[in-house]
Parts: sequence; C-alpha cells; structure tokens
Amino acid sequence: MAERIDGKARAAMLREDVAAGVQTLFDATGVRPGLTVVIIGEDPASQVYVRNKGRMAEAAGFVSNTHRLPADVPEADLLAIIDDLNADDSVHGILVQLPLPDHIDDRTVINRIDPDKDVDGFHTVNVGRLSIGLDGFVPCTPLGCLDLLKHSGAPLTGAHAVIVGRSNIVGKPMAALLLAEHCTVTIAHSRTRDLAALCRTADILVAAVGRPGLISGDWVKEGATVIDVGINRIDAGEGKTRLVGDVDFESAAQRAAAITPVPGGVGPMTIACLLSNTLKAAKRARGRASQS
Ligand code: NDP
Repeated sequence: MAERIDGKARAAMLREDVAAGVQTLFDATGVRPGLTVVIIGEDPASQVYVRNKGRMAEAAGFVSNTHRLPADVPEADLLAIIDDLNADDSVHGILVQLPLPDHIDDRTVINRIDPDKDVDGFHTVNVGRLSIGLDGFVPCTPLGCLDLLKHSGAPLTGAHAVIVGRSNIVGKPMAALLLAEHCTVTIAHSRTRDLAALCRTADILVAAVGRPGLISGDWVKEGATVIDVGINRIDAGEGKTRLVGDVDFESAAQRAAAITPVPGGVGPMTIACLLSNTLKAAKRARGRASQS
C-alpha cells in the first residue's frame, strides 16, 4: 500500500517557514511583504479561494489587500489598477485571479504585471526564465508538486516523469521543473496515443487533467510516485458532492510507492507556495532597494 503524501501537513510547515521568514525580514528592515489580489466578478469558487489567500497571507504576517472589481470592468481600468500596484513599493506581489471575463484579454493583463511582482509566475518573462533556468517566479501549483515530490524522497535524477496535461499553469511548468531536476520528461495530452501504456512507464506520474478518475490503478507502474493535481467535484448522491482527483486513489495506491490524496494533497500547497513566492519578491525588492 502506498505512502500517503500529506500535502496539508507539508503546506502548514511551509507556511510556518514563510511566517518565520517574514518576521526575520521585518526585524531586519521594517518591511512587511505586501500581497494584493485583484478579483473580477462574482465567481463563487474564486471568491472562496481569494478569501483563503487573504486569510493565510495575514496569518503569515503579510499585508494583504484585495481589489474587488465588477464583472463588466473595462480592461483599461484593470490595466490602470495594475500600473498603480506596479508603482507601489509596499506591494511586492500582485495576483489577478483567473479566469477573467471574456471581454478582457488574459495575456494582456498578466503581462502588464511587473515580472518581479508576478508571484503567480504567469508573466511571459517568468515563463522564459523558468524555461532557460534563470531565477524567477514559478507557478505555485507545480512548485508545490515539486516540493511534495522532493519531500516524498522519490529519486528524481534519471527518473521517467510522465505529466498528463499541457496547460500553461500546471503541465508545462511542471515539465520544466522536472527537467531541471534531471528527470526524463514526457508530456501527454488529449491527443496522446495509448496513454495507459505511457503512464505504465512512469516512475513519476503527474496528473493535471480535470477528469475524475481518468488514471486507474492498472495505469500505474509498481513503485511509482503519483501526484494528482486534478480537482473534480462529482455527485455523491443524496444531493451532495465530493472532491476527487484525476487518479483513482484506491486502485492506484495498491501499486504506487507514494501518492497524493484529493483533497489534502496538492491543493493546500498552492497557497503556501504563493506566500513563499511573495516573501521571495519582498526580499528581492529589498535587495534592489539597498543596492540603489
Ligand atoms: P486545463 O483544462 O487547462 O488542461 C487540461 C489538460 O489535460 C490539457 O492539456 C488537455 O489536453 C489534457 N486532457 C484533457 N483530457 C484528456 C484526456 N482524456 N487524456 C489526456 N489528457 C487530457 O487544466 P489545468 O491544467 O488548469 O488543470 C488541470 C486540473 O488540475 C483541473 O482539475 C484543475 O481543477 C486542477 N488544478 C488544481 C490546482 C490546485 O491544486 N491548486 C491548480 C490548478 C489546477 P489538450 O491540451 O490536448 O486539450
């Protein structure tokens, strides 16, 4: 039976480390890291997520602010707010909650954020930095997955990592991170032929698809480490729903050496890594200020 990788516990430890780092920075410089989240519209899931970010940022000692904008806000107004945040020295991290309404272009908005305040790691400059191995900001979910993999003790060098999903926010940055860890990386997607056979060759299997239970136990190599990024809400009968991943946990756990559950695996790591990125942004800004 696989070891259960406890993302909830690891995320709590990471948040404690960040809080200690925030205190050290404050004691040395009087600076508190500032994180500002911009949310557009009333999407209930985004509202919950943004509230959690704010709560955890404050608990770690950050200055946390949220700009709530109506769903019909003109793109130009949103860009003007980002310009103001870019110019504000007390703001070290800026995050625009996705998805954005249809009349706003995601790429224009993301690329308006100062890359050194882009704590989501979505700016083209940070994507480029990750791709060529420069220090920058790495998207929080794959960063959290890598942290869990390292803490699980899975050998990475030379391992075959199969990542199912090629999104810009999970699959592609996960591939770049694992390549940098000397894995041999394969990225699979909806057009991949014989996905089951490919997955059976994976020492590290990362599922980031959004299809409940797509990966069953017989797709998992004996002794593999499985990271399940998927968050899917399914009908649990009697008018209730429950969260499941992309991997069928029960059958995969029979073969894997270690596996993340859903919930309680990758999910909690995302906000913890966001806080870690924001502390890093504040330290880097402080470093630049002391040099000038
Ligand atoms: P996207 O929808 O952007 O990407 C999904 C990827 O899965 C695509 O590359 C798609 O292929 C591929 N795919 C779809 N169907 C299949 C299939 N049948 N076989 C193989 N590949 C398939 O999703 P995201 O990357 O944004 O998110 C993936 C999952 O992770 C979701 O469940 C999401 O909720 C969750 N998530 C969790 C986070 C967290 O834990 N904090 C954060 C972000 C996401 P193609 O490119 O060919 O269409």
